[in-house]
Amino acid sequence: MELHEGPPAHFERPARHAAVVAKFFKEGLEGRCERVPARLATDDELLLCHSQSHLDAVDSTFDASKDEAVQGEGDIYWTTHTARCARTAAGSAAAVAAAVAAGSIHRGFAVVRPPGHHAECARAMGFCFYNNAAIAARVALRQPGVERVLVLDWDVHHGNGIQDVLYDDPKVMYASLHRHGNGFYPGTGDIDECGIREGVGYNVNIPWAEKGLGDADYLAAFDLVIDPIARAFNPDVVVVAAGFDAAEGDPLGGMKVSDQGYALMTERLLAHAKGRCVCALEGGYGLRRVLCHTDPHTTPSAR
Ligand SMILES: [Zn+2]
Repeated sequence: MELHEGPPAHFERPARHAAVVAKFFKEGLEGRCERVPARLATDDELLLCHSQSHLDAVDSTFDASKDEAVQGEGDIYWTTHTARCARTAAGSAAAVAAAVAAGSIHRGFAVVRPPGHHAECARAMGFCFYNNAAIAARVALRQPGVERVLVLDWDVHHGNGIQDVLYDDPKVMYASLHRHGNGFYPGTGDIDECGIREGVGYNVNIPWAEKGLGDADYLAAFDLVIDPIARAFNPDVVVVAAGFDAAEGDPLGGMKVSDQGYALMTERLLAHAKGRCVCALEGGYGLRRVLCHTDPHTTPSAR
């Protein structure tokens, strides 16, 4: 997943993945976890959330004659490795979701890139190609006994792609906390975007009009909105679109969520679905300050 590499200084860069992995080993978490092997998503899994034409486009949109990345629409860039990396990100999130839904592990974190929550049913967008979190939710729903999935998105940007894919689906509650307004990307996610058809009421946006918000604001949103709706919805599995670009020090987010804030939000989510929780990495760009004490350019060679 680190082979998808864009122009120099692009925010969505391989070091984001390497830094999380390095931090994981540095903190000694390896011995406390079970590894779910990364794998490619199948067409069948991708088609749970995307159109066949989108799969074809991702599979075919690159210029193999060039070594360097090719700029696509908006923030998207393509390399010869992009299709495989995007499939690996989606497949790995799906693998963790399947394992949690089946009960073989209790909860898990898919350390994946490229991210997914901006990828719509038929469009790559905002650094994202396949919607890893939405695919994880739909894969979890395949497991007998899993009837409802809560997708909580605390990436600082609205997950327009998750909303697009799940907008009419009452089996998946999508709730997002994000900055909104004043031109903040992607511009969707207003409070009145609540779902359509059977999905009305199952799409919950908590748009922040200001930057500089922190733990108390996020936890207030949990107290007043997320915990009550999660209790009422009673999910069987929780999926977290786990960007860390609302963290203090992120160069894009402008928010001030602390490590402890993320821990407290995680703890709140583990109170639902009997703690069955799948996190998939989304955005997050402040590697030195956010993933402190880690050199983001160092990839553990033997891992
Ligand atoms: Zn983001």
